Amino acid sequence: MKEIILIKNGELALKGLNRKNFESIMIKNMKRRLEDCGNFKFTAVQSTITVEGDENSDVSKAFERLKYVFGIAGLSKAAVAEKDMQSIFDTTVEYLEDELLLAKTFKVNAKRSDKSFPYGSPEICAQTGGVILSKFPHLKVDVHNPDLIVTVEVRDFGVYIHGNQLKGAGGMPVGSSGKAAILMSGGIDSPVAGWMMAKRGLQLIGIHFASPPYTSELAEKKVRLLTEKVAKYSGRIKLYIVQFTEIQEKIKDVCPEDLFTLVMRRLMMKTAQIIAEKEDCGALITGESLAQVASQTLKALACTDEAATLPVFRPCIGMDKSEIIEISRKIDTFETSILPYEDCCTVFTPKHPKTKPNLEEVKKAEADGDFDELVKEAAQNARFVLID
Ligand code: ATP
Ligand code: MG
Repeated sequence: MKEIILIKNGELALKGLNRKNFESIMIKNMKRRLEDCGNFKFTAVQSTITVEGDENSDVSKAFERLKYVFGIAGLSKAAVAEKDMQSIFDTTVEYLEDELLLAKTFKVNAKRSDKSFPYGSPEICAQTGGVILSKFPHLKVDVHNPDLIVTVEVRDFGVYIHGNQLKGAGGMPVGSSGKAAILMSGGIDSPVAGWMMAKRGLQLIGIHFASPPYTSELAEKKVRLLTEKVAKYSGRIKLYIVQFTEIQEKIKDVCPEDLFTLVMRRLMMKTAQIIAEKEDCGALITGESLAQVASQTLKALACTDEAATLPVFRPCIGMDKSEIIEISRKIDTFETSILPYEDCCTVFTPKHPKTKPNLEEVKKAEADGDFDELVKEAAQNARFVLID
């Protein structure tokens, strides 16, 4: 029995004249994700994209991959039947046997886009439903809230039959909103922030600041692992590792202790911005959340914000830690994020950081340190790894 995948694109359907453009970005993303699953043909008809493999392709593996692709609202595997009623009955009973046995209630939903098919939707529903009831006598019809919706779609080139549609990853296709740089620590918040913005169609690059020997090789490995988990959704991420030791040591030497963290955050922004601009990014992304720590009070965030001219997206800004954790569990980054390795943010942390810093005072401390050259060098010398 031939099996295909049906993709429902969610928000894309609302994009009017741009829809074709969004759709082609999504198809390109899906193709890349299915490279090692076989040869697939993608066909867009109205709000559905059919994904059809040749005889050597692995449809189940492809289906697993597509669950993570942004822009997809729903997806289902479907069997292809001939365009006659007997074939529709036989295929439904055979292909959906397991689901029909498990369900207590069902309904049939028919869509007939090929108007030359001699039976109308109500007839297809009634007759297919009748056959199902005769073969699976434990079932009852429930048109309002059935366990299983059997969908029969009569299309130009065949009839697609499938059970319940699975919810897709949602959002917009990665790349359709441009490109941005996520500042990746090893914590809980930044992978979530990156995931949230990729979901809105941003292609990501990653920037991680490491301060060896204060931070270890394991901390960097953890960041790579987290980036890999985000890339499962966003597609490839070019991850830059910036050596921040010299800058941090200088901050410690020349700046007042209560401003250490703020000057460091500003210099992170400035360094990140140089890399982001070189990579053609239109924004920076952080995992900051209002009032989470001293460097994330309103005044502290204003100081950090002023250091960058690119827009800074902070999708976690209004979220409680528990809400951020809920997403990190869903996207499977939580267990990695809570591994203990030290981040450079916790090196040289002041005992009493300023929670209501004065921007001019912070800028003066930064100017006294004369960091411009060091920042440029750190950005230039950053190395990168490609994470898939
Ligand atoms: P958590 O709060 O769970 O420890 P976090 O990722 O939010 O993790 P914070 O210390 O709160 O870490 O830092 C705020 C934001 O600054 C992070 O979300 C991240 O975007 C950025 N950041 C912090 N440390 C680094 C780092 N070493 N490299 C790159 N970005 C960093
Ligand atoms: Mg945080």
